[in-house]
Amino acid sequence: MSLLQRLQTAFGRFASKMQQFTAGRYGSDRFTLFLTILGLVSASLGNFKYLRFLYFVGVAMIIFGLFRSLSKNYEARRKELNWYLVWSEKPKAQIKLLMNKIRDRKTHRYFKCKECKTVLRVPRGRGKIEITCPKCRKKTIKKT
Ligand SMILES: [Zn+2]
Repeated sequence: MSLLQRLQTAFGRFASKMQQFTAGRYGSDRFTLFLTILGLVSASLGNFKYLRFLYFVGVAMIIFGLFRSLSKNYEARRKELNWYLVWSEKPKAQIKLLMNKIRDRKTHRYFKCKECKTVLRVPRGRGKIEITCPKCRKKTIKKT
């Protein structure tokens, strides 16, 4: 048998072993991706003298992510994913709003309705105008 053939056989065996190992396991999801990225960032910050503990926090996150992907308890993993999706909704919306504010900083101003907390976007440079909240109809006077 040539070296190439031997390598191919060895690789084939390895691939089928991996397939057996991962069969029926939960695999990766968005929560695992989040844990892995945050874990890597946290572990890197652990290089700084007073942030040493972050290294262990990061490693723990990565291990938890690995544990989740290899788990066979689909029900529990799905519950965690749901919890994560609900939990991450607010910070995601805040980041998106911040990006929009930066993008529109020259053309629009953002206000929050005092009544229902809806975010209102109005064009800049219109002077003092009365803004009616499209959701709760409350009127406020703002300088644009
Ligand atoms: Zn409102």
